[in-house]
Amino acid sequence: MKKAVVLLSGGLDSTTVLAIARYEGYEAYCLTVDYGQRHQLELERSKEIAKLLGAREHRTVKLDLRMIGGSALTDSIDVPKSRSEAEMGTGIPVTYVPARNTIMLSLALGYAEVLGAFDIFIGVNALDYSGYPDCRPAFIEAFENLAQVATKAGVEGEGSFRIYAPLMYLTKKDIIRKATSFGIDLGITTSCYDPHDQGLACGQCDACILRKKGFEEAGIPDPTKYRAGP
Ligand code: ZN
Repeated sequence: MKKAVVLLSGGLDSTTVLAIARYEGYEAYCLTVDYGQRHQLELERSKEIAKLLGAREHRTVKLDLRMIGGSALTDSIDVPKSRSEAEMGTGIPVTYVPARNTIMLSLALGYAEVLGAFDIFIGVNALDYSGYPDCRPAFIEAFENLAQVATKAGVEGEGSFRIYAPLMYLTKKDIIRKATSFGIDLGITTSCYDPHDQGLACGQCDACILRKKGFEEAGIPDPTKYRAGP
């Protein structure tokens, strides 16, 4: 069985990516990064999801990006709420975590090299309005090239590293339909940037708004538990 490292955040997208990797016959080694995100609920959910989808192994790496800050997810900056789609489509929002996917893919690459794996899966998506630079095709391609020259396995020609981003060109609606087709109960996933106690989603951050709209467009009941009231 081929081994793959799957970056797992406990969200809708990375959960779907794990299901795709499993469906394609990979033995999945999941990696979650505890980077001090305000939505710590992700870490709990990741554990459950890895188990549920039959991952061979699940590791959580602790790396406190709050020491760097600079994001609404890792610093004392408010998470934007109730933005319109037009507002979401303008510029890179404060929920961008500086260099996060470069850091996470670097950890995944190290893990892959130790495992003797060459395939790495990540749930980035270029169609989200958020416009994060490290979710774009140019970034994924550049990282794939970097992986080859940055590792012992790469320079000694043991194999070719591939970074798979199977959701790159899918809409949220498509991702929700795909996940549902795998029989995943999406109620277990968490997307909210600013969840309240007991894991209730805020319903107002960009991630909640895009997720809600995705369920509506997919015509699938939204299993997310939202906090009542503003
Ligand atoms: Zn939210």
